[in-house]
Amino acid sequence: MRVAVLKETRSGETRVAATPETVKKYVGMGLDVAVESGAGLASGFIDSAYAEAGATIAADAAAALAGAGIVLAVRAPEAELPRGALLLGTLGADAAAAAAYAAAGVDACSMELLPRITRAQSMDVLSSQANLAGYRAVIEGAGAYDRGFPMMMTAAGTVPAANVFVMGAGVAGLQAIATARRLGGRVSATDVRPAAKEEIKSLGATFVGYEDEESKAAQTAGGYAKQLSAEFYAKQAEVVAAHIAKQDVVVCTALVQGRRAPTLVTAAMVESMKPGSVIVDIAADAGGNCALTQPGEMVVTPNGVKILGFTNWPGRLPAAASALYARNLLTFLSTFWDKDAKAPKLPEDDDIVKGVALTRGGAVVHPLMQPAS
Ligand code: NAD
Repeated sequence: MRVAVLKETRSGETRVAATPETVKKYVGMGLDVAVESGAGLASGFIDSAYAEAGATIAADAAAALAGAGIVLAVRAPEAELPRGALLLGTLGADAAAAAAYAAAGVDACSMELLPRITRAQSMDVLSSQANLAGYRAVIEGAGAYDRGFPMMMTAAGTVPAANVFVMGAGVAGLQAIATARRLGGRVSATDVRPAAKEEIKSLGATFVGYEDEESKAAQTAGGYAKQLSAEFYAKQAEVVAAHIAKQDVVVCTALVQGRRAPTLVTAAMVESMKPGSVIVDIAADAGGNCALTQPGEMVVTPNGVKILGFTNWPGRLPAAASALYARNLLTFLSTFWDKDAKAPKLPEDDDIVKGVALTRGGAVVHPLMQPAS
């Protein structure tokens, strides 16, 4: 069976869905791997490295896809896929896109829908990418900040430590806390899920937040934050507003699954910050946590606050992000692998498969992808 690895076509997408390391493993599983020429270049993986790992280098997407039974991608591919192929990617599909995959006879799996259960941890693309994004957010925040993170006592005087506030303490936020602490920042963080408070404290950061009866039940069964009431968000904003005025770097990571990111930093809060402060908004892909974030841009407000609203944060460390993403896909395929047939076998009743499978055998099977009735 042939596996096609495509060059990503979405603007600004630097990652690739297979690395020479995973290609070698696929070849070992008895697969033929075709890599579109230049697919790994933006991540630092050159064609010859894939060839050495056992792949064939295809001149273009059509050549890579010819006869492919498995297609590996980061984002939804634009090329026409072979009928019957299994597509793995972060497809971000809606009901219409799922219907198109079904009509094209493609079995599409959207890896960002993977359930956050222990058994799926090593295939969890959201976690692997969010962890790197949280790290990178702090590095870029430190780069944009005109002062230092650690307290420095020098003969010329003392440089105070930076006050760093992390909003949202999920996978990205916890890594942001750890990174900011390693750089010497004085770190605080907030979240709405009750479990996050202990995690924040265990990393040596201070918890800042509003808690009430509503926030005690702020977590869904899947581990995500729930959408909370307007009253709760108003109370949270009061606590945050007083704190944010004293912060030098604010890292925003808060998300609510399937919705626009909550607005946690208002224009008035930005105005209260000191000139030279930095807001890094890695929720920008989902609209941003800061009201003044311009997705894809860095803006400087009239009072001198820099807001970094870049999108695709994992793509800002493409080699590491591709390496982890590629391993996530390899683990998924190895887990659902029929050794005798040398082909994937996705059991319909498996919780992981049920979580990611959008289409199967020409039909839309995912409950979230059914057309509105
Ligand atoms: P996410 O990216 O959906 O959200 C980021 C964080 O923002 C979350 O911690 C969320 O609680 C927080 N948030 C939402 N609204 C907020 C608000 N108004 N103010 C402050 N913070 C707010 O989350 P994630 O990083 O994908 O993690 C989701 C959950 O999944 C977590 O509970 C995590 O521990 C869990 N998880 C479990 C596994 C596993 O295998 N068991 C793996 C990865 C993640």
